[in-house]
Amino acid sequence: MRRNIGIVGGSIAGSALAERLLRGGHRIEVFERSSSDLEDRGLGIAMDPSVAGTLGKDFGTPLERRVVFDRNGVVRWTKRLSKRTVRWNAVHHALSATLPDGIVRRGASVREAGGDGDAAWLRTEAGDRHDFDLVIGADGIGSRVREMVDPGFRTDFLGYVAIRGLVRIDELPPEAGPVCEAMLEGSMVNAYLDRSHVVAYPIESASGEAMVNWMWYRNTTIDDLEGLVGSDADGTPRRSLPPGGIPADHLETFRGEASGSMAASMSSILLSSDSWSLQAIHAGTASTAVAGRLVLIGDAARIAIPHVGAGTSMAIVDARSLAEAIDGADADLDRRLERWAGTRRGETGEAISFGRDLGRFLQCSGTDWTTWSSADYERWWSGLLDDRRLYFESTQ
Ligand SMILES: Cc1cc2nc3c(=O)[nH]c(=O)nc-3n(C[C@H](O)[C@H](O)[C@H](O)COP(=O)(O)OP(=O)(O)OC[C@H]3O[C@@H](n4cnc5c(N)ncnc54)[C@H](O)[C@@H]3O)c2cc1C
Repeated sequence: MRRNIGIVGGSIAGSALAERLLRGGHRIEVFERSSSDLEDRGLGIAMDPSVAGTLGKDFGTPLERRVVFDRNGVVRWTKRLSKRTVRWNAVHHALSATLPDGIVRRGASVREAGGDGDAAWLRTEAGDRHDFDLVIGADGIGSRVREMVDPGFRTDFLGYVAIRGLVRIDELPPEAGPVCEAMLEGSMVNAYLDRSHVVAYPIESASGEAMVNWMWYRNTTIDDLEGLVGSDADGTPRRSLPPGGIPADHLETFRGEASGSMAASMSSILLSSDSWSLQAIHAGTASTAVAGRLVLIGDAARIAIPHVGAGTSMAIVDARSLAEAIDGADADLDRRLERWAGTRRGETGEAISFGRDLGRFLQCSGTDWTTWSSADYERWWSGLLDDRRLYFESTQ
């Protein structure tokens, strides 16, 4: 049956859903708060190769192993993994390029949404109301649609931030050599430090240059965070600072700390990057992804903790599997939505809980990584994994 569907959010989850629902012949409108074309969210992401492969032949850069350096720059552990890394823009473009003009309303911020029997509605900040058969919240971590689906939901700040940057490999100084060599051989590089860690991997720029994309996870109290990121006009604490947006005094502190706490092979990469950005790391899973004719997908349904590099892939699979559930539905739509939500919760839960446990250990345990043998790392990892399945372990 052809449905009339409103999608809130036109990023990864929203674009992936719009593309599939249009193919199924449904009538779609996407409401996206940002008035730009989203092409400026340019950092790198790691993806599930099986999902990346659906976006194009040879999509992204394949990575085959994780290499862990300690704070002295010594390689402590090498572990097989299976990921593809890519620019966020390339993923968004692959998902949204086929959407016809007029489907996405840019600069349309949704204030509230609601449902009534077998119908749903949303109201924009401009005050206009739109009625649909279904409204899908693909509106990310601060979802407005989730406020109706799960009114008790609260995000949980995990006590650390990701400071992020990007730099061309040919602009790096010689000290970065050991980390660059590992990356160019197909590795994701991790530096495990004292209650802190860095993840770095190669991506290709839009014009084909080899770049290093890095994330430095740094502990921060909630009070310090508020002082650092500030609040929006309505008093809501911000969750991120854009590239170049970290205040100069904090930037100086962070740069000093980077050079003091990590080996030159890693700190030289951070210090050579000029547009640092910052994101506070939160967790949270909505108690349900479906309430009547309101549905949540992507980060609106569950915040993807970044340590497993799965959020984008999960958002795409959410969207495509939801489109399938809607496509085949007739009078049984509500039952199909409930079944879809239960299945996705089961499929994503292990990766989310593992990401949280891994982040907690790396940021809080105070382990002296310089004393561990490769066998110690193996034992730690399989204990932490605790039989949970992760897509990037599949090549073992
Ligand atoms: C530091 C960090 C590193 C990460 N690394 C990775 C990685 O390597 N691999 C990976 O797969 N994932 C990674 N993630 C997670 C990934 O970014 C998210 O899981 C993914 O972006 C979720 O996509 P989404 O479409 O659900 O939400 P989002 O990308 O957040 O999109 C939500 C959209 O909704 C719009 N919106 C919000 N509110 C409204 C409103 N009221 N009205 C209209 N529009 C609205 C926003 O403008 C936005 O376009 C990382 C996350 C962080 C924080």
